[in-house]
Amino acid sequence: MLNGLSVDVEDWFQVGAFENTIARSDWDGIALRVGDNVRRVLDLFDEVGVKATFFTLGWVAEREPQAIRTIVERGHELASHGYDHTRVFTFDPGQFAADLKRSRAILEDAGGAAITGYRAPSFSIDQRTPWAHEVLAEHGYAYSSSVAPIRHDHYGWREAPRFAFRPLADSPLVEIPVTTAQVGERRLAAGGGGFFRVLPYAFSRWAIARVNCDDRRPAVFYFHPWEVDPGQPRVADAPLRSKLRHYTNLAGMADKLRRLAGDFHWGRMDELARIEAQRCVEFAP
Ligand SMILES: [Zn+2]
Repeated sequence: MLNGLSVDVEDWFQVGAFENTIARSDWDGIALRVGDNVRRVLDLFDEVGVKATFFTLGWVAEREPQAIRTIVERGHELASHGYDHTRVFTFDPGQFAADLKRSRAILEDAGGAAITGYRAPSFSIDQRTPWAHEVLAEHGYAYSSSVAPIRHDHYGWREAPRFAFRPLADSPLVEIPVTTAQVGERRLAAGGGGFFRVLPYAFSRWAIARVNCDDRRPAVFYFHPWEVDPGQPRVADAPLRSKLRHYTNLAGMADKLRRLAGDFHWGRMDELARIEAQRCVEFAP
């Protein structure tokens, strides 16, 4: 069973956890670590022999075009994570279209490859954005992986299907939600993020095996380049909960990823989208 492996390419200071601590206007004054961290992730992927999809911010590609070009040269898929991590539910449809257009031009310029996949910052396509998939289809995207079908304190669309669906009747666009594990009535986030680092690896292995064996569907997993960077600067005045989520077990992340790569079969999201398109259900918000 092919599972989807993805990396959301943004720097440590661009995450939702620090948005009230580090102002958007300060970004240009902070030393970038994302280029070096992308290279570390690429080396790790070569070591374990996997290909993946890198959902990348246009803002990063503008400043680190060499690292972004290397993603494509080493056989991975380059895809869009928007321009500067603005959540989709804060846009109107016109602003969303402009963000897609701007980031795609930068990414295609840096990577030299067509962009057909999209992941919304902080899984911000939900019941508040019934127009979002329409805009993605109009801009020629083949798939989106922008929905977290859970209730989380920062995001989530609990009513969405757990597996690939077609949000539009007149378009082949496929939405591939991030992985959840269903336990009775509860859905647990099991596709990466803080949970992967904070909980023992055994939880993730159990959850992904359950999705592959019981649901008989692929898992979609994501992490960030800053998660393999224990040397990143520490933000002192962020909320404790945010700091715990961001800094716990950074040093053990690379080894956890090696185990994950060894225990399951992983590949690029565009490949997964082609497979999932054959069997996905229709679900319109
Ligand atoms: Zn992100």
